Amino acid sequence: MTKKYDLIAIGAGSGGLSVAERAAKYGAKCAVIEAKRIGGTCVNLGCVPKKVMWYGAGIAHTLHDATDYGFDIAINGFSWETLKQHRDEYVSGINSWYHTYLKDSDIDEITGYARFIDAHTLEVNGEQLQAEHIVIAPGAYPVVPSIPGAEHGITSDGFFELETLPQRVAVVGSGYIAVEIAGLLNALGSDVTLLLRREHLLRPFDAMLRECLMEEMMDGGVNIITSSQIGEVKKQDDEELELICADTGQQLGRFDQLLWAIGRAPASSGMNLEMAGIVTDEQGHIPTDEWQNTNLAGVYAIGDVTGRAQLTPVAIAAGRRLGDRLFGNMSERKLDYDLIPTVVFSHPPIATVGLTESEAREIHGDAVKIYQSRFTPMYHAFTKHQSKMAMKLVTVGAREKVVGCHVIGIGADEMLQGFAVAMRMGATKKDFDDTIAIHPSAAEELVTMR
Ligand code: NDP
Repeated sequence: MTKKYDLIAIGAGSGGLSVAERAAKYGAKCAVIEAKRIGGTCVNLGCVPKKVMWYGAGIAHTLHDATDYGFDIAINGFSWETLKQHRDEYVSGINSWYHTYLKDSDIDEITGYARFIDAHTLEVNGEQLQAEHIVIAPGAYPVVPSIPGAEHGITSDGFFELETLPQRVAVVGSGYIAVEIAGLLNALGSDVTLLLRREHLLRPFDAMLRECLMEEMMDGGVNIITSSQIGEVKKQDDEELELICADTGQQLGRFDQLLWAIGRAPASSGMNLEMAGIVTDEQGHIPTDEWQNTNLAGVYAIGDVTGRAQLTPVAIAAGRRLGDRLFGNMSERKLDYDLIPTVVFSHPPIATVGLTESEAREIHGDAVKIYQSRFTPMYHAFTKHQSKMAMKLVTVGAREKVVGCHVIGIGADEMLQGFAVAMRMGATKKDFDDTIAIHPSAAEELVTMR
């Protein structure tokens, strides 16, 4: 017998769970279909376990600074195994919470892979399910390059399975994942080499952020090699890895672990999309309009599979708004993809929202005015390892509307959320200046810049 629903979400990650949860709140009968672990990438192989590791790495930094604050401490070691065990337990707890939550919300949880039969019918484990609304939210997976020996490396998925701290690691890539994992492994004691195929890391970010991060990472002990495209990976008899540069033939290594962090691809294959008439682009992303509609009526896509702003809170926000629109009588409700704040959990962290300086100059030309500052935050004023802080406000026009806010340094991750609210409300530089500073803090610099 065919089971009938109001809404089915394919994928029980951030996007799929949020749309089903919101729709169910309005009384819709919903199901989520997930082949792997509930919670998707964010909970199991991304944000959550990464942040645990980032906190661990932060403790390593604090312990190094402790003597400068007068503590006489001896560090007797670090157990990766303990940290991993506690992290895995924490993640399992979230998985369990979600199972219970779905049950309590009367949302059916179906384990398996979904295939489209037509716009309103799916097949899972040989059973047919029908819904008026089907939301495709299967996420994305890490890419591995097509070069000889690439299989000797792991991706961020494999990183979370590591049972021991790797001693000598090569991280290939220049985006969020590369800098986050390189930074935390370095802090926890690995010897890390970060390999960029071009000159910069975090290329789409404001130049101030990426230059400052590069300096900080190098000062902190990460070996960064630029303009090196890896063409081959060789595994030696002793299991160690050697990387061969494509253009120069230069040999790099040896390493006992290699991690690819070169981007993520949409998990859109295997769902029979083409046969159902759902359009994908060349990379496999599912294009949507501003309402998350695909080209097929009644079928929607949210999250990483759409290729737009691959961030957990974006998938959640898109899912909730779609639920509001479909079942909450809010026909105009949709996600505004402008001014999305984001944090890179590097060491030190980066927080950014709005236009970079170069983007603003391209759009607004001479109307752009920049305020920036670089300083040693008080915490580091007398630590031997001195990590810098840098901030930039990008303003436009006579009223100096703030269109970009970029911060790198200790505490940046917790600093930006409120400023993002102010920018959404159209704050100007004068609004920033008229706000009383919180003293002493690093954030006060953002309201006192000249
Ligand atoms: P990103 O897209 O952030 O960065 C990958 C970069 O790697 C590319 O931009 C490219 O940079 C470089 N690259 C691509 N191919 C190669 C290659 N063959 N060799 C060497 N370098 C290569 O991807 P990530 O995998 O880091 O992350 C995916 C997405 O997940 C992010 O964009 C982000 O949206 C999300 N994410 C968010 C996090 C957060 O919110 N804190 C944390 C982790 C991920 P270039 O062209 O400059 O060489």
